[in-house]
Amino acid sequence: MMSRRGRIIIVAGPSGAGKGTIEKAIMKKYSDIQFSVSVTTRPRRDYEIDGQHYFFISKDDFLNKIRRDELVEWQEVYSKNGHLYGTLRSYIDQALDQGKILLLDIDIKGGLNVKKEYPELSVSIFIEPPSLDDLEQRLIARGTDNPEQIKIRLERAGEEMSLGQLFDYKVVNANLSDAVEDFSEILKQTIYHE
Ligand code: 5GP
Repeated sequence: MMSRRGRIIIVAGPSGAGKGTIEKAIMKKYSDIQFSVSVTTRPRRDYEIDGQHYFFISKDDFLNKIRRDELVEWQEVYSKNGHLYGTLRSYIDQALDQGKILLLDIDIKGGLNVKKEYPELSVSIFIEPPSLDDLEQRLIARGTDNPEQIKIRLERAGEEMSLGQLFDYKVVNANLSDAVEDFSEILKQTIYHE
């Protein structure tokens, strides 16, 4: 086996907690961090690029990948729509073998499963909104969800907050620059420490 020099940064949190914005700022600041591209059955949004935001695949292809054990983990993230999201084993292992530092934007359960699979190579960070009211405002402002979807996300968020304790670190996203600063500090103490 090749020596595994890479690392995995697992980033999860209730949807709309501002994960994406923090991740973008972090990847701008640390140019060696590579976004980990997942597979999904969700339809591509207009601004998304296949192979860059996700590998967009059919449900049949996704089910085949599960059967062939090609996924480290997978989740039906929004059970109502039945969309599936998963982390490709080949993608992760290749990146680790190449010494890459990967950033995984992942749902909470998936993140905990990756942590279990790569305990030594991963750092898990839970992004938390300051409050559920704040989260609701963010979801409305983002404009990618309809009211019904927002209601579901908020219900889930309440349940999900308690799972945050199982992550190595927590970053409260009250304002972007402080959150990015806190996130950077965690990276300095872990990934960039050795
Ligand atoms: P969106 O559809 O808004 O891009 O993402 C929905 C959710 O799916 C987000 O919480 C995102 O973190 C999560 N997600 C993205 N890729 C994966 C993956 O590979 N596995 C799991 N379990 N969740 C993922």
